[in-house]
Amino acid sequence: MNNDALKQQIEDLAHEIRYHDDLYYNHDAPAISDAAYDALRQDYLALIKAHPELTPADDPAQTVGANGLGAFAEVKHLERMMSLDNAFTEEDLEQFLERNARFLNTTVERLFPIVAELKIDGLSGSLRYENGQLTVAATRGNGEVGENITANIETISSIPKRLPAGCPPLIEVRGEVYMDRHDFEQLNQQQQASNQKPFANPRNAAAGSLRQLDPRVTATRPLKFFAYGVHNEQPLNVTKYADIMRTLQDWGFGVEPYRKECHSLKDMVSFYNEILTQRPDIPFEIDGIVYKINDLALQQRLGAVTRFPRYAIAHKFPAAQAITRLNNITIQVGRTGTLTPVAELEPVGIGGVMVARATLHNSDELARKNIAVGDMVKVQRAGDVIPQVVEVTQKSPQAQPFQFPTACPVCDSEVLRLPDQAAHKCLGGLACEAQALQSLKHFVSKDCFDIDGLGIKNMEHFYNLGLIKTPADIFTLEARNADVETPIEQQEGWGKKSADNLFAAINKRRTLPLHRFVNALGIPLIGAQTAKVLAKRFETIEALLTVMEKGYDPASKAYQQLIEIDGIGEQMVTALTHFYHEAHNRTIVDALLQHVTVEPVVANVVTSALGGKTIVFTGTLQTLSRAEAKAQAERLGAHVAGSVSSKTDIVVAGEAAGSKLRKAEALGLTIWSEDDWKEAAADLGS
Ligand SMILES: [Zn+2]
Repeated sequence: MNNDALKQQIEDLAHEIRYHDDLYYNHDAPAISDAAYDALRQDYLALIKAHPELTPADDPAQTVGANGLGAFAEVKHLERMMSLDNAFTEEDLEQFLERNARFLNTTVERLFPIVAELKIDGLSGSLRYENGQLTVAATRGNGEVGENITANIETISSIPKRLPAGCPPLIEVRGEVYMDRHDFEQLNQQQQASNQKPFANPRNAAAGSLRQLDPRVTATRPLKFFAYGVHNEQPLNVTKYADIMRTLQDWGFGVEPYRKECHSLKDMVSFYNEILTQRPDIPFEIDGIVYKINDLALQQRLGAVTRFPRYAIAHKFPAAQAITRLNNITIQVGRTGTLTPVAELEPVGIGGVMVARATLHNSDELARKNIAVGDMVKVQRAGDVIPQVVEVTQKSPQAQPFQFPTACPVCDSEVLRLPDQAAHKCLGGLACEAQALQSLKHFVSKDCFDIDGLGIKNMEHFYNLGLIKTPADIFTLEARNADVETPIEQQEGWGKKSADNLFAAINKRRTLPLHRFVNALGIPLIGAQTAKVLAKRFETIEALLTVMEKGYDPASKAYQQLIEIDGIGEQMVTALTHFYHEAHNRTIVDALLQHVTVEPVVANVVTSALGGKTIVFTGTLQTLSRAEAKAQAERLGAHVAGSVSSKTDIVVAGEAAGSKLRKAEALGLTIWSEDDWKEAAADLGS
């Protein structure tokens, strides 16, 4: 694969990751499973590790977690809100103890008692009290900075708004905002009754409720809060973690009631097992046990490693699983055109939630797990995201292997699977309703049509109003404006002047260079760079479209012409020709060409006296930049080389030309001064 295709692939992945981050962190509505998300990230990280130079400016690997929804102002925590390291087995717990004993140069016994408490599946928050008054509440965010949710937190009745006299003048109380399972079910019934989307689980419901822009809505939600710590315990004058909990309780906070002191590893494990059996009867969702060393002096000495305190660990419960029948497999088309198979299941309760759908990731995964409609399958809810099908537990005798569709279920365009990619993609792009908005945003972006005043936000606005559904609609917007229900100048945030400016900006783009036009079409694998290569090679839109049409046949001359271009690989040719073979796309392009004139690329003057000559520039040019001189030479059909050899035709020597000039002299080559060059270039019309 060449760099252009790679770059495109990396950007696609980055884009997809950012999209899912946004859904997960800012909208509490994950669309894929943890495993699918991890796979995306791994693909991405592997690519940028191998090609660090292609790392996108907005690298999602650098922005793990929530960056926060703009609507809520940022709050910097007084002290970092830590996460917890995870343990999955008894051995992990044993290692946790031994590691800490070693660190403190003491015995494992000395670490006890250890407080075990339930790990509530909610949303961490920090409540700041100044002189006893609740002043600021924030989400965990990235640990350093969270979102201001004070107005919403104030609606939670179990959170004290004032602390009793004698409390420290400045303190942040940390804890978990959550929703009881019973309350969650009632809320979802109400959501459904009022035709609103139900929440996936209590955690999402709690998070969604906290992120309400209107605190009056939050006030109607049955949120609760368990405190589990403070940002700095020194002012409390206590020596044990259990004392902090007692203080918080005295101040009126709810604390996790199942809490227990353990005196050995055996104690820890038996508490874990006890809770695991009780789990279905516990009124709130939990996903494990947290163990904390009780002695605060030891906690202090142990400190933290980056994001985790050493003195605590979370022992996670195994994922909840159930077996049910796979009734059907449907296909979901993502906004970048990726087709994802979805398992439609006989509804089954898993860990307190009814599950009717699960992701099947992609066709490779389907084939690998040999999953077919009618099979009994094991479904897993890992954590809280979309459930996944783990394996087939019983094959149905009638089961037929699933045939991945060859046409998009949304727009009926061809579905293309590029040889070294797991995903099937709909080639419809601008013609596919699932992708239209995304494609239109790309269409008007900087490297494409770059229309002033028609950025991502406005494009979304006009798309949702139905005013712009296809690229051609952009260019008929003004003509249709008088006849629409609410003309643009009367829409909120618009006026006569801004509408006129928009129309003027659109009109400015009725003529456009070929490479921008090609890039705007959003053909898979054909990014800005490849578009330039194609434009240079075929010069006119007519020539390019002809070769795209005829090149569909790999035996054709057109296919050969495409594949022979430096920088164009087989996959790109496939994407290009199959794109144009798709009738929906031809309709889009034809309609667009009714309104847009595509400028041809100015042809190289290969017939000039310098045509085909190899030229080397050396030394400092006084009146021209190196780049300009090179561009002049290329316009005249000459090839510019970096080093002098017997194949060099002309060496243009500027000031202080050194070894290259000496070599040219030794080889007896033609040597020009900068003035000679300018004269020749002017004569030849460059
Ligand atoms: Zn489609």
